[in-house]
Amino acid sequence: MSDYYDVLGVSKDASTEDIKRAYRKLARKLHPDVNPDAGERFKEVSQAYETLSNPDKRSAYDRGGPGAGGAPGGFGAGFGFSDIMDAFFGQGGAGGRGAGPASRTQRGQDALIRVDVDLSEAAFGGERSIQVDTAVLCPTCKGTCCQPGTSPQTCDICHGQGSVQRVVRSLLGQVMTTQACPTCHGFGTVLPSPCLECSGEGRVRARRPLTIRIPAGVDTGTRIQLASQGEVGTAGGPPGDLYVEIHERPHPVFTRSGDDLHCTLQVPMTAAALGATIPLETLDGTEDVDVRPGAQAGETVTLKQKGAEHLRAQGRGDLHVQLEVVTPRDLDDEQEELLRRLAELRGEVRPSGKLSPAHQGVFSKLRDRFSGR
Ligand SMILES: [Zn+2]
Ligand SMILES: [Zn+2]
Repeated sequence: MSDYYDVLGVSKDASTEDIKRAYRKLARKLHPDVNPDAGERFKEVSQAYETLSNPDKRSAYDRGGPGAGGAPGGFGAGFGFSDIMDAFFGQGGAGGRGAGPASRTQRGQDALIRVDVDLSEAAFGGERSIQVDTAVLCPTCKGTCCQPGTSPQTCDICHGQGSVQRVVRSLLGQVMTTQACPTCHGFGTVLPSPCLECSGEGRVRARRPLTIRIPAGVDTGTRIQLASQGEVGTAGGPPGDLYVEIHERPHPVFTRSGDDLHCTLQVPMTAAALGATIPLETLDGTEDVDVRPGAQAGETVTLKQKGAEHLRAQGRGDLHVQLEVVTPRDLDDEQEELLRRLAELRGEVRPSGKLSPAHQGVFSKLRDRFSGR
């Protein structure tokens, strides 16, 4: 029988990875589907690989001990089915399994939390202290997953490979398949004394305080990404990201559209008629709203740059103040007399309370327009 190292064309001290690489290269050339005349050679190569890729079999072979030969018969002289797949589809091909054991250390998941903010907080930004329910590094084992003083041990079943080979019957006869080792779940190591606090996961659930900066100009639905503030990974793995989704609470006075704000302002009828300056409580404090003489109900006064700040640009939106003209009620005798006098002077209302003919004229004109005359 030829020397297995010569068969694969590798040196005696080749790493498992080197052996795998050499085997793949040869298998591509020699597989019966590709090269029907190379059957014997392929068998030899496969046998060499089967032995040298397994640390136990390899050391037995190196010692020249019994069991140094290849596996008995069967399909493809006993090499793993996924190894063929690897040879033809590249590493981790149809088998779906990369080389070597899986790592316990994984990146943590991203997390999403919702934060309710007031309008002024959204408009101008600010800092906010919040509590996040998340996964943090286990304080007892610090991510080693083991009780203090103990450490993971190489799995006896798979010898640290993380996978085991199993013979299954199929249409092709007996086939060797590679599976994740059921004892160590593919990790290649077992925890003889898992940490009690985290059950060997290396992380625990905790409520963590966090101060977040809310940029000026955020709005409902804006997401802020905080790198590495998500869940810590298993076994001390790096944390994921935290996404903070902004939700703006409705404001009793202002409604928002983009970075502009809208509100209504009640203006007494006399102020609307005569003109007035009316104070309005805005996000910036008290601002004067100038109502022009003769202002009409529904008219809008715009206060430039008194809206929310732009999130991605300099400057601010505007504040649009819609005037709501309030008709006076509960007039005392003197006030009523004054208004009647005014109405007479303007020819708007007869003493009886009926609308004057002049104004009826206005309405009949409107009526004509609506009826299309
Ligand atoms: Zn722990
Ligand atoms: Zn195992």
